[in-house]
Amino acid sequence: MGDVIRTVKVKLDVRRERCDDLHQTKDQFLHCANTTAEWAWRHPDEYCVTSKQKAETALYDRLRDETELTANLVQKGIRRAIEATKSGVARLKNGETTSQPHFDAWSVVYDKRSATFHRDHVSLSTVNGRIECPYVLPDDPEQTPIGEYLLNEDYEFRMSTLQYDRSSGEFYLHARMRRAEREEHEQSTTAFSDAEHRTVLGVDLNVDGSLAVTSTGAFIGNADEMNHRRREFEKTRGSMQQTGTRSAHLSIQSMDDREHRWMQNELHRASNQILEEARDHECTHIAFENLTDIRDRMPGVKRFHAWAFRRLYEYVEYKAEMLGIEIEQVSPAYTSQRCSKCGFTHEENGRSKHQFACQKCEYELNADYNASKNIARKLLKRLHSGQTSSSGGAPCQCALTSGTLNLNGEFIASVDSTAEGESTDKPTTSVVGN
Ligand SMILES: [Zn+2]
Repeated sequence: MGDVIRTVKVKLDVRRERCDDLHQTKDQFLHCANTTAEWAWRHPDEYCVTSKQKAETALYDRLRDETELTANLVQKGIRRAIEATKSGVARLKNGETTSQPHFDAWSVVYDKRSATFHRDHVSLSTVNGRIECPYVLPDDPEQTPIGEYLLNEDYEFRMSTLQYDRSSGEFYLHARMRRAEREEHEQSTTAFSDAEHRTVLGVDLNVDGSLAVTSTGAFIGNADEMNHRRREFEKTRGSMQQTGTRSAHLSIQSMDDREHRWMQNELHRASNQILEEARDHECTHIAFENLTDIRDRMPGVKRFHAWAFRRLYEYVEYKAEMLGIEIEQVSPAYTSQRCSKCGFTHEENGRSKHQFACQKCEYELNADYNASKNIARKLLKRLHSGQTSSSGGAPCQCALTSGTLNLNGEFIASVDSTAEGESTDKPTTSVVGN
């Protein structure tokens, strides 16, 4: 019936100058877990919190600010503590005595978002970027668990832990390896529809107008208002700093907090709307453009925009994980110059800022909406060609306003779409599938 799961311990060859990055990553990871445990454990005065979602909502932003960990590691730290809290609550219910979970063992949880697992090495996310650690393999691994599971292509890597042996000073990966049972393979074409159909929601991010525009035509968030609020805060802060008194200084700090909270709320709201779009259209994937170097690439992107885009992406990423939706980034090249209808790509195409007009087929639509469809299509192409770990040559499609588009340009209208469907749409705010 179920999967075969084996844990294989393999020694890592960590360059001496990077060891400290791993130790600091562990310290910050445990900080996340312990902070969460302290927050969640309310026995005997109140019920303990055992909801991961509640814990993430309450603590994620704070822990992101307090640590240099990636979003995924913060989330894993929170979840580890919530799991422990749950077991504690179960023990209390059994009449056993127990206390608030505390984490001090050297251990960091990695999954495929925070690590890239290979057969001969692993790439781990740390407080100081990624580090590549080759495995130290035995001379003759054949009859060992390493040969049987770690090097065996029938097994895939699952959530694993990084550990450290204080006595030898060595790092070990405890890799959890999973093999799907044969029956499951045979049934997979009928039993798992999510393995069969891949539908991509494209998301285009902007510094003005709507913060995010989806390939389904949803216009989400208000970047103009964010800019306005930001400017107002800066103005007030400027005049306060001139006053220079201690009380003025304190109100600047509280204003920073208020500004920060307001932005985070807006970004949470936007991320929820993106996920609603994805869910409404039964998307298996959400595509964003690559956010690295976005400030060099996009004129008008200020530091706070780059921060907001990254934060929005992270919110979507961790919430999507609970829904089983995959998030990927694609190269932003030509996404604003390509016509999402006929494919004609020309720099003249993207000339007007807010309206896209194709020089070849004369298709006109909102420029951000056009870009979001191209972003969806890029991921679709990648999934189709099998370049990501999660694809398997299954049919792929983009989620669009009133149906889906596959790579051959075949349009499949959804049940409730109108006859003109895709070709004439000028999107209206936030509603899709009319
Ligand atoms: Zn065109």
